[in-house]
Amino acid sequence: MEEKEIIERLENLENKLRFYQQLGAGFLVAAQKKPTDEGKLADELVGLKTEPETRPFQAEEWEKLIRRIRDCHFCPLFQGRTQAVPGEGNCQTKLMFIGEAPGRDEDWQGRPFVGRAGQLLTKIIEAMGFKRQDVYITNVVKCRPPENRTPRPDEVKACSPYLLRQIELINPRVIVSLGKIAAEFLLQTNKSMSDIRGHFGEFKGIPVMPTFHPAYLIRNEGNREIKRLVWEDMKKVMKLLESS
Ligand code: SF4
Repeated sequence: MEEKEIIERLENLENKLRFYQQLGAGFLVAAQKKPTDEGKLADELVGLKTEPETRPFQAEEWEKLIRRIRDCHFCPLFQGRTQAVPGEGNCQTKLMFIGEAPGRDEDWQGRPFVGRAGQLLTKIIEAMGFKRQDVYITNVVKCRPPENRTPRPDEVKACSPYLLRQIELINPRVIVSLGKIAAEFLLQTNKSMSDIRGHFGEFKGIPVMPTFHPAYLIRNEGNREIKRLVWEDMKKVMKLLESS
């Protein structure tokens, strides 16, 4: 087997083991202790990544990243923005919420989820037993697309290194993806939200719960079933956080 292929397989294994451990299946990590070189390397890799809470937070790296987002001119969206919206909240949190892109209010204030959808998200977070400042809230794309249109694939691609680095530095226990764009990006799927919501996927070993975007709930304000489904999804997230 080629060295590159072995490394890829071990990386996949590492991600899967971490994911299962997050779901409470720690025994699977112990089961990987094999006397082979491949087994040893897998154990070392897993050992490095399965104790994220002991890793010191890289505050300087975080500050540098936020400055780079604020100054970014990397894709055409910078032309129409008032300001970039990196995200806000606790950057050492266990729980991250990731939406699509800033809207008009967010662009104006430089903060994510501050309009009506944001107020609803805050209520959901509080119903889960957290304060808004306990979690980290951001978007896949950091600048407002014109007329609040859906970000284009090239814009998502251009902006994605920032989100990837945010996830890497925060290293949350669970991510909640809000709406189709975030789910597509994190879970690499183009299935409908109705098909994927309510089931944990994974992003680099981190459990991801896809659910409807709060703006969708507002657009369907009279539909209590959608609200119920979102709450079911959040209960699964709470259960996973309690068990980890
Ligand atoms: S959307 Fe992202 S890549 Fe584009 S200018 Fe804003 S921060 Fe830079």
